[in-house]
Parts: sequence; C-alpha cells; structure tokens
Amino acid sequence: MTTQNKASNEYDVIIIGAGAAGLMCAIAAGQRGRRVLVTDHANKVGKKILMSGGGRCNFTNMYSAPENFICNNPHFVKSALSRYTPWHFIELVEKHQIAYHEKKLGQLFCDESSKQIVQMLLAECASAGVKIITDTSVQVVETGGQKLLETPQGKLQCESVVIATGSLSIPKMGATGFGFELARKLDISVLPTRAGLVPVVLDDHKLKPLAELSGISLDTITEANQNSFHENILFTHRGLSGPAILQASSYWQPGEPLKIDMFPGIELAGYLAEMRVEKSKTALKTILAEKLTRRVAQLWCEQWVEDKPLGQLSDTDIEHIVSQCQPWTVKPSGTEGYRTAEVTLGGIDTDALSSKTMECKNHPGLYFIGEVVDVTGHLGGHNFQWAWASGHAAGQFV
Ligand SMILES: Cc1cc2nc3c(=O)[nH]c(=O)nc-3n(C[C@H](O)[C@H](O)[C@H](O)COP(=O)(O)OP(=O)(O)OC[C@H]3O[C@@H](n4cnc5c(N)ncnc54)[C@H](O)[C@@H]3O)c2cc1C
Repeated sequence: MTTQNKASNEYDVIIIGAGAAGLMCAIAAGQRGRRVLVTDHANKVGKKILMSGGGRCNFTNMYSAPENFICNNPHFVKSALSRYTPWHFIELVEKHQIAYHEKKLGQLFCDESSKQIVQMLLAECASAGVKIITDTSVQVVETGGQKLLETPQGKLQCESVVIATGSLSIPKMGATGFGFELARKLDISVLPTRAGLVPVVLDDHKLKPLAELSGISLDTITEANQNSFHENILFTHRGLSGPAILQASSYWQPGEPLKIDMFPGIELAGYLAEMRVEKSKTALKTILAEKLTRRVAQLWCEQWVEDKPLGQLSDTDIEHIVSQCQPWTVKPSGTEGYRTAEVTLGGIDTDALSSKTMECKNHPGLYFIGEVVDVTGHLGGHNFQWAWASGHAAGQFV
C-alpha cells in the first residue's frame, strides 16, 4: 500500500517506547516503506542503552541462544532469535564503524561509548524515514481495526500499534508499567513481575559483619534454584552483588537460599586433608586466604570457623569448614528491587503473542516487543539481543 498521502496524524505504525526494541522495530518497518512514528514520554530516546554496560553498552552476546532466556514458554524466543542473530547486529555496528571488543564470555561492548549505539539507531531511523517524538505521553484509546491514540497534542491514527515501553526496572529512568496496564485493560494475560539481575540484601543480624567486606570480589560458583553461574560475587554494604549474584537473582525466590561455592574447581575437604599433612603448622586462615583473600578468610575465621594450625584439624573440623564455604549457604532477606534491577522478570504472557510476529493473537494489529514481554535474558548482552530480535521480528509484519 502507499503511505504517501496520509494526513499528518495518520501512520501505518505507531511504536510507543523509543528504547532498544522500539527503535529496532521502527528501523525494520521504515525500511519496508511503512510510515512509522515512535513516541516516548522521556526527554530523550534510549536512556537505558546510554547507561548500559557502565556507559559502554554490552550490545549483544556472540553466543546468545534460547538457553540464555527465562520465559514461561522456553520455546517462544527461538523464532525471533533465529531470524535476527547477534551477527546481524554486529554487522550493523560494523557498518557504522563503531569499534567494539569482547570483554569475556562472548559479551560485546563498545570501545568508546553507548552513545554510539543510540546515534547508530537514530541514523538508521532517519534513513528509513521514521519520525520520533519525545516528551509525549500517549493513551491507546481504540484497538479494534484502525487504532486510535491520544496525546496532549491531539489524536493519532494507525494500523498497527507496537508496545515497546519496557518494564519496571529503574523508575528513575522513566520505566513504567504502561504495557502491563494496557494489557490488563484488554484482557491480555500478564505474568507476575519481579526484579531480576539485581543485588541481594542480607538483613540477618548474624550476617552484618559481612558489610566490612564491602568492595571485595571473589570467584565463585553461585547457585539458585539449581541454576549455577561461575562468576564473581561482590560484597556490598547491604549484601551481595557481582555477576554471579545478579545472574542467580533471576532464579532466586524469596525464602530460598543461595549456595555459593567459594572454592570453584577445588574439592575442599580433600584439599584441606592434604594440606593438614603437607603444611601442618600453617594456620587455616592462611590457607583460606589463598583463595578467599586475607580479609574474607579473617572474617570467616572470626565468625564461622575456628582458626588453628592445619595439623590440629580433625575430620569433623574439616567437615564444618566445608559446610561454611563449599557451598556457603546464605538466605537473602530480599533483593534491592526495581530501584537497581537491570531487568524485570515476568510480563506479557507469551501465550497471548505470536512468536513469529509478536502480534497479539486476540488483538490484530497490536504488538508487544522487548522487555515488556515475559522474556528475560541472562546478564551479558542477551537482553539487548532480545530487544533487537523481537523488535526486528515485529518490524517485518507491522
Ligand atoms: C543499568 C542497566 C544496565 C543495563 N545494561 C545492559 C547491557 O549492558 N546489556 C544488555 O543486554 N542489557 C542491559 N540492560 C537491560 C536492557 O537495558 C533492557 O533489557 C533493554 O533496554 C530493554 O529494551 P526495551 O526497548 O524493551 O525497553 P527500554 O529500553 O526500557 O525502553 C522503553 C522505552 O519506553 C519508554 N516508556 C516507558 N513508559 C512509557 C510510557 N508510559 N509512554 C511512553 N514511553 C514510555 C521509556 O522512556 C523507554 O525509552 C541494562 C539495564 C539497566 C537498567
């Protein structure tokens, strides 16, 4: 169809939310010749992209695969992820001559700044003829047939509406529950939401001394609900953070423990038994410090295990030490919540959507993409990969 002769308030596609998913969808639809408007209530686009990856945007992960996503229907992500892979995004990044590097585990970051990713998306939007308006709140008034939206500046009409408003994480950055509220009004199922990729809080008074360790990080294998991650943990003033904890937090449920193996790759009982013979005069604290750092070993010996020369350790002592370190089982009192969470778990039930197009099965012309959907990636670039892939998928059909 031709889109040239429409009135200025008429579009083929209106995308609400100018974040990662919304901008990618706009580019794909604009490149197909669709007349696209993107609206955002924030004063600038892509705020989460700008702050991501410590200002360098971990824009994708070379190994992104369905196993890296949490979703009530684990098969849902397969279609979009296979049609827009990390290599498609890397090609775009290279086309715009943005220098990047792999930090670790396939995680790709800009060498310079996240701003380059936003500039790249805006340049692609401009060449695809996409119109973007910021500082504008929108209400979706009519969703059957031709869609009707209201803004303070007047009414807008379109054939397809795409909800790309993200989720509840970091309200200070403009996060809202807009997508969930709209879904509920339209009887679209929304799965319970909670903060993910988030530090945990340790309020138990017995754990208070850990605050002294704030700033120290350790190599661990951290497990929540039978999902384990070999990464660092970081002691904080309020509890624990670091990549292993953030990853585990997405699987952790209130009341459950985290199991933190502080000696990954070492069978601690056997190691201590060996050391008891080889270094009988060495203090336990000294041996623990080799892996745990001096301060952590010191605190463990003050609080949870008795320091003595290795030669004096009984088998029961060794069993007790192992029980405090491999794993160290700790019950968080909660998480830091949406205030600091990188993502929101739960959201628009994928059963309500087509995995190929992201369109609502019961509301033709209405699409949900990105983080608002019940799809949450692991740490390391997977969340942006979902935003790009789901945005691109919808962009082929809107
Ligand atoms: C601190 C931080 C660091 C992160 N780092 C990384 C990283 O390095 N790599 C990675 O893969 N992921 C990272 N993430 C996660 C990633 O940012 C999100 O998964 C991704 O931005 C989701 O894209 P989206 O387009 O769905 O939502 P968003 O990027 O959140 O975009 C939603 C847009 O909708 C707008 N909006 C919201 N409500 C309304 C409304 N009512 N009306 C109009 N507009 C509205 C918002 O202003 C925003 O522009 C990070 C997240 C945070 C918070």
